[in-house]
Amino acid sequence: MSSYSLVPAGNLNGLITSLLDECMHRIAHAPGDSFYHISKTVAKPQETRGRFLTRHTQPTHLTESLPCDMLAYHLRLRGAMRFGRIGVLAIGGLLVVVALSACSAAYGILVAPTVAPTFTLTPEPTATPTSTLAPTETPTPEPTRTPEPPTSTPTLTPTPWPTPDGIVRTVRVPILMYHHISEPPKDTDAVQRDLSVPATAFEEQLRYLKENGYQTISLYDLNRHLQLGDPLPEKPIILTFDDGYRDNFVQAFPLLVEYGFTGTFFLITAPIDQGYEGYMTWPQVALMSQLGMDMEPHSYSHPDLRGQSVDYIVWQVVGSKEAIEERTKKTCRFFAYPSGHFDQQLVDVLRSANFWGALSINGATVHSSDKMFDLARVRISGPDDLQTFKDKLNWDW
Ligand SMILES: [Zn+2]
Repeated sequence: MSSYSLVPAGNLNGLITSLLDECMHRIAHAPGDSFYHISKTVAKPQETRGRFLTRHTQPTHLTESLPCDMLAYHLRLRGAMRFGRIGVLAIGGLLVVVALSACSAAYGILVAPTVAPTFTLTPEPTATPTSTLAPTETPTPEPTRTPEPPTSTPTLTPTPWPTPDGIVRTVRVPILMYHHISEPPKDTDAVQRDLSVPATAFEEQLRYLKENGYQTISLYDLNRHLQLGDPLPEKPIILTFDDGYRDNFVQAFPLLVEYGFTGTFFLITAPIDQGYEGYMTWPQVALMSQLGMDMEPHSYSHPDLRGQSVDYIVWQVVGSKEAIEERTKKTCRFFAYPSGHFDQQLVDVLRSANFWGALSINGATVHSSDKMFDLARVRISGPDDLQTFKDKLNWDW
């Protein structure tokens, strides 16, 4: 990525502002500085944004820093570097078209009518069924929030989307599970070393995948294959990253973009709300989403959700779902169980909240259309060498 030329900061303002969330205010870049500095102001307390979002969050002023070459790459990706002002105008037009499409969908016009999904909208009874849009491509307008406390007895009617055609399918797709992409501190414990894959090892793994014909797909692609038989590439793979660590943005995200891969990032949203240094920020989450990554919930604060009250589960699960949707403007449909723990009640709540599937940490690569709430994963550990990585890719159970 360092070979990409840089773009003067003055040309960036409009484009990047439109790429990022509405809170973004300006981008500054000093000559010779290796970072663009993005200032943003959250103009209103987040408690006004949704019924499950964190209370007591005060307006804040934050400054983000992004490597120049990453921003330059983003612009190149959007055609702005090649077409200059025309490119910016074209992108503006595209955004208007997307916005109009979204508005049309909000009034019930089907934008992608190839599959007619059915919904149970019990948790949000005033929402219009805007999610008939193709799930991974078109920003879905925010459903109307109901400013009421969560009901203690949601109707648990499972209505998965897309409507299954009734055929039970199985497929072998390795879903890799990462946590930190960073060098662990020297004096750290075995658990932390296990969770931390150094960036050099991670890049070696991506290079191996690229050179051996693997193509990343999303969980949405996997779902459509299992439920409807839509084709997958010859060597599909899904890359997932749990917990929402800052190093995922700093280390993993640029490498994924560089290698032409996408990933799914399961976020714990409490530390993001609270601005913890080791976790992503909301503008980073929004940027990754805009550039093709899937940002999905992993609970509010990572508790064991087995045997908890429905209210508590709704707060933990739907709270983090809505917090992410607020920033990405996309509907979240997949959940990663905290520490992999789940029970039937948790699955029932997820179904009632219109999730399409959830990921465990059971070590396997074969998935079935009737087990969407127990999607197994392959844990990639810090100490894994390339041979161990290859062996894990070839698991056939
Ligand atoms: Zn976790």
